[in-house]
Amino acid sequence: MTSTVPNTPSQPGPTAGPADPIGGVSGAPARRRAEQLTRRVATGMDAAPVTMSAPFTGMPVAPLPQAADAEVRRVYTRAREVQPSWAEWPARERQRVLLRLADLVLSHQEEVLDLVQVEAGKARIDAFDEVSATALVASYYGKHSARLLAPRRAAGALPVLTKASEIRHPKGVVGIVSPWNYPLALTAMDVLPALAAGNAIVQKPDNQTALSALWLHELAEQAGLPADVWQIVLGRGSAIGDAIVEESDYVCFTGSTPTGKRLAGQVAERLTGYSLELGGKNPMVVLPDADVRTAAAGAVTACFSSAGQLCVSVERIYVHESIHDDFVRALAERTEALTLGAGLDYHAGMGSLTSQDQLTTVQAHVDDARAAGATVVAGGRPRPDLGPLFYEPTVLTGVTERATLFREETFGPVVAVYPYSDVDEAVARANDTEFGLNASVWTRDARRGEEVARRIKAGTVNVNEGYAATFGTVGVPMGGMKESGVGRRNSAEGLLKYTEAQAVAVQRGLRLRPFRGMPPRLWAKAMSAGIAALRRVPRR
Ligand code: NAP
Repeated sequence: MTSTVPNTPSQPGPTAGPADPIGGVSGAPARRRAEQLTRRVATGMDAAPVTMSAPFTGMPVAPLPQAADAEVRRVYTRAREVQPSWAEWPARERQRVLLRLADLVLSHQEEVLDLVQVEAGKARIDAFDEVSATALVASYYGKHSARLLAPRRAAGALPVLTKASEIRHPKGVVGIVSPWNYPLALTAMDVLPALAAGNAIVQKPDNQTALSALWLHELAEQAGLPADVWQIVLGRGSAIGDAIVEESDYVCFTGSTPTGKRLAGQVAERLTGYSLELGGKNPMVVLPDADVRTAAAGAVTACFSSAGQLCVSVERIYVHESIHDDFVRALAERTEALTLGAGLDYHAGMGSLTSQDQLTTVQAHVDDARAAGATVVAGGRPRPDLGPLFYEPTVLTGVTERATLFREETFGPVVAVYPYSDVDEAVARANDTEFGLNASVWTRDARRGEEVARRIKAGTVNVNEGYAATFGTVGVPMGGMKESGVGRRNSAEGLLKYTEAQAVAVQRGLRLRPFRGMPPRLWAKAMSAGIAALRRVPRR
């Protein structure tokens, strides 16, 4: 059955309008502000510009200078000049910059909410998720990085006589490639810990959403970050990707699995460290005891935030057969009630897709699933009446293995619901994927939920939430298992990956060899007895 109730467009907000591609302010002041931000691009305005268009309207936003390979390499030279003095700042002073940045982001949020909406086409409530994630990550590393980076004492080889410690040095210059889907939050989550660790940064945000990254860069300098410690370059990966890979002391990439694999191969040639945050095909498991209406409401957020263009969003839902039909009805009802719109205000529940490529993929996946036997129970249509890239949030049932989206990531507002008969089967089907980024489990029994969560092979698993519980908890690591990535962001791991660990041990008195004249056999015996005795000393 195809939905007959179209998603309702929202009322246009007071500042929104098709002739106002920047939003908030209109016309010449808006263009001036965009030009002001693009002057922060490290390679300057003389490089050949490209102009991206706003997804809501298709209108041009701002010309963006595109760097060439040689210019990017010059940017790295500058980064190497400024990095040592930044690394000499006490870690506590560096973290203070982040705390000030957190306050600035919150107090200036209206401007960046407009920018994120204009560049990415998302609903304001989804843009706010980026503001909150940015403030949370700046606060977390603003409070904890000095402690996490402090030298750590370790028990020495010979108690008392060996004084051992672990020191953390910055990697040097970190190259960060950021995608277009969470332009503010992913910039913050990757750049801020690297700065806190004492690195200089060369970041390549996606052209589509460069202004959001440049906005955060401006605020970081207002918060006290010295000039050029964080530099932003723009250009296609095919033009400047090699320079980033070849010049960085560490590469942090967020994007698709095929691109991530290609970059990892190049980085490995140089024996340089890297982290990859890649794609997903994230499952949600609804256990038989779950409250159907709560789970359906949770699924709407889990599947359609940022129009499903969220690496951790849910694209497969496994529902126990005893509640499957009720769940599908509740999900379809809520999906159809979701308000779509392009206003720069909080009226809409879902915005637009970000690019024509995204729209093409979403349409192709839904059409292909239909042709392979699926039923569209909600959505399933583009909405050019609202804007060039709108597509309805879509719920499918009866998706067969022949459908492309059965296994492949859509990265759009499309979810397939499947019934299952026992929990072992649901876990096996949730794990039957090459990806392992995020998962979600719904139940009235939190303990049972945790048990099931631990059986799912995904870097983050949320119980009674789609993704926000782990995404918003900066103190726990976030990242992918299997083909969803290598390494983690957030938490201590997200900071320490940007450091080189160094062990320094000072030996006093006895050397770790037989003393002069001591038979080696006696030394070996004495050492063996010592090691055995140490094993029995209780851990403090
Ligand atoms: P993509 O095609 O891999 O591109 C991602 C970024 O990498 C773009 O800005 C792209 O710039 C750049 N890039 C491409 N080739 C490059 C190269 N050789 N060197 C340096 N940069 C290069 O991915 P996408 O389709 O834009 O993004 C969607 C994908 O990202 C989805 O699969 C999604 O799941 C994943 N994602 C994952 C996470 C996570 O945290 N796990 C978060 C967000 C998105 P150009 O296009 O200009 O070349």
